[in-house]
Formats: sequence, C-alpha cells, structure tokens
Amino acid sequence: MTQPHNPTRLQSLDELKFSAVLSDLDGIVYRGDDAIAGAVARFRSWHDQGLPYCFITNNAEKSADDFASKIIGLGIPCTPYQVVSAAEVTLAYVSARYAPGTPVYVVGTPSFKNRVEAAGFVLASTAAQVVLVALDRQFDYSMMKAALRNVLGGAELIGTNPDLIRPVDDGFEPGAGAIAHSIATAAGVSPKFIGKPSPDIIHLAMERLGVQAQSAIMLGDQLDTDILAAQRAGVRGVFVETGVPINPRSAVKTEYLLQQL
Ligand SMILES: [Mg+2]
Repeated sequence: MTQPHNPTRLQSLDELKFSAVLSDLDGIVYRGDDAIAGAVARFRSWHDQGLPYCFITNNAEKSADDFASKIIGLGIPCTPYQVVSAAEVTLAYVSARYAPGTPVYVVGTPSFKNRVEAAGFVLASTAAQVVLVALDRQFDYSMMKAALRNVLGGAELIGTNPDLIRPVDDGFEPGAGAIAHSIATAAGVSPKFIGKPSPDIIHLAMERLGVQAQSAIMLGDQLDTDILAAQRAGVRGVFVETGVPINPRSAVKTEYLLQQL
C-alpha cells in the first residue's frame, strides 16, 4: 500500500534555498557519453557563483580521476576530490576494519583491483578474510565458486553497492548487487553493502564540501538509492526526471520533483 503523497514539483531549483549541491552522475549529468540537457550550464553557473558541489556515484568501475576527466570533458569544472564513489567509501570501510596485508578476494574490474591493492590489501583467491564485490562483466561460475568458498571459510562478504539492475544504452544489465546476492544466496549469508542508499557516502561528500545537511540538496534519478540515501543523511532530495523513470511502487517518496536541470 502506498501512502498518499504529493511531492512538490519545482519549475526550477531556484525555488529552493541551498548552499551546496550533491549530485548523482548517471541520469543527472550524463547518459552514456552524452551530457544531459541543462546539466552542463547548471553546474558551470554554480561553479562561477562559487557554490560547492560534489558528485556521488555507486559506480565502482572507474576511479575518481577517471570520473573527473569525463565530467571535465563535458564542460563541467571538477576535481577528483569532488567525486565520491562507492568504491572509495567501501575501501575506507574495509581499511577501518582490516589491517594492511589482509588477503581479499575481489570480484571487480582491473581498475578496482588496483585500488584494493593500493589501499594495502593483498589479492587472494583462497583463504581470504574479505570477499569484496563490485560490478564485473566477466563474472562467471568459477569466480562465484571461489567467492563462495572464501565466504564459507569465514570471509566477510561486502558489496560496493546494492544496485540489482543498471540502465544502459540498449536496455538493462545486472548490477553489482545482483552478483553479491548470488554469492550470498549460495553461502546462506547477507552481504554488507556500502554505497547509496547507505548515508555514509553522503556524509563523506558533505565532509569534503564542509557543509551541513540542512544547507545541501541531493540530485538523483533513483528513489531507492539516491533519494533514500539523502533522506537518511537528513538532506533534501530532488528527483530529476532525466534518468531512470520514477518507480511508482517504491516505498521511498521524494519531497521534490524537477523535470530537468
Ligand atoms: Mg543515476
């Protein structure tokens, strides 16, 4: 049963008072390689006004440098420090709990594996203490088996983000969350997920900008990740209709709707 709910439809973000912007990337700033209408002009004008902004993504395939280069390429000023990814927050979480040198079994791209090693961990296929799962399009049965055996051996199962499905150019593809759940189902455990909708990633972004929750807004195109993470962190969420169509069955309700930036 959904509660009766009427989000406020904004004609423009100028109707809200805020002094910092947190924003999702895919569906808000770009789709694939193309900028989304209005996004570049909006962020450029915030940059010119000196209004701080930070991008928050559950995508762990690329590094903050890669994301910053892509954003700059579209015409939006951005430093790697202004990009907080689920991979980064996940590695901070693991680093806070496991000593350098801990063996970790990783499902993820070569770029993600490099970052795991750079964080001081040792890549291992057996006797791992942590199984770390990010999006990996090469994921197969033998990797699932190795992950399962490590989890049965006592390794903690951690996913960079809980996304089950991702919109792509020609439809949808399974997300990192679906991979983690396949391992968890086989092992009979529950994975720990770090990215949105966990508020940790929002907290880190606000810390970087030096802003308080009440003065920020969060732009997103997914109720169950972007908007829920914002609500959990006490930040006003604005659902922007340039990405994934709004899910009317979601238990999460947005306070604000905006057609485009
Ligand atoms: Mg998105």
